Amino acid sequence: MKIASVEPFILHLPLTSESISDSTHSITHWGVVGTKIVTTDGLVGYGFTGTHAHLPSDRLITACIRDCYAPLLIGEDANDHTRLWTKLARHPALQWVGRAGITQLALAAVDVALWDLRAKKAGQPLWAYLGGARTNSLEAYNTDIGWLSFRLETLLGGAAKAVEVDGFTRLKIKVGHDDPNTDIARLAAVRKRVGPSVRIAIDGNGKWDLPTCQRFCMQARDLDIYWFEEPLWYDDVAGHAALARSTAIPIALGEQLYTVDAFSAFISAGAVAYVQPDVTRLGGVTEYIQVADLAHAHRLPVVPHAGEMSQVHVHLSYWHPASTILEYIPWIKDHFEEPIDVRDGVYRRPEQPGASTTVLQESLARYGKSIG
Ligand SMILES: [Mg+2]
Repeated sequence: MKIASVEPFILHLPLTSESISDSTHSITHWGVVGTKIVTTDGLVGYGFTGTHAHLPSDRLITACIRDCYAPLLIGEDANDHTRLWTKLARHPALQWVGRAGITQLALAAVDVALWDLRAKKAGQPLWAYLGGARTNSLEAYNTDIGWLSFRLETLLGGAAKAVEVDGFTRLKIKVGHDDPNTDIARLAAVRKRVGPSVRIAIDGNGKWDLPTCQRFCMQARDLDIYWFEEPLWYDDVAGHAALARSTAIPIALGEQLYTVDAFSAFISAGAVAYVQPDVTRLGGVTEYIQVADLAHAHRLPVVPHAGEMSQVHVHLSYWHPASTILEYIPWIKDHFEEPIDVRDGVYRRPEQPGASTTVLQESLARYGKSIG
């Protein structure tokens, strides 16, 4: 299974809504930026990271794959994923400019493609290749009904449909208005609409400061919030630890963290209750496993962030013992050979060999962008 070629790609896929916003981002497309890796025995693996479909920065990722990583991979044995991960991540010149950002997003794509290849070679879905499923039923929570840009009627209608028609028992609502009272009123309306038994998590996307979050948590204490995700600036360990000490609402974070070391700092400080690693921002599946094991050693639940819209995380969540539930955002699923599939709020377990990352050829033709 020698690596014969490394072929980066960029896809800009339209969202299911025309556009969405949270407290810090507004987007119309999701970027699927990654690489195809072909081996001498004819196997093809796919891996990708997730972006906001900003072509100039997407091209930095594909340039890193094409110009920096591909020459280090060609001719190598694709089975040696740990050695290859180290070869790329700890290459002195790349480590000098990397360890986070572009080089890490590019590494994620390569590493996922290597895991996809190895599971395909074994003829097993990734969860089985990793060691088998821990559960028969992986619950999904719906994020796509709760965007900050949705008017209240849209938010309430979407929440009601998700619960009453689609069978979800878990929702996530974005918060982060300039006036937090607006968010309290929206959450109270959703709670009233869906009733007390639905689990409602909230997500601030790092906008507010510590005193704002502390006041907000006081006001939200009767709304039975399942977790408060990214309340503060992404890298603020001390702030999250202080907030965690001052509120009974559990803190969730991790989607913006690039390394196992970053997770270690938050966990050691008691700053996180729900650990949210993402294979597309960490260095792929290889580093995700390190983070999930670290969380497990502290008996913290792992709830991955859907930077790949859960195509890979569905495997990892069926497998890893620290996993609990999994985010659901249906934006890009129809562009894969084996799309994620949620019915009655539960993820169907994937059964095709690989990591469910094989992109449809027609999607590559229709939505592909030049890597420049
Ligand atoms: Mg989030």
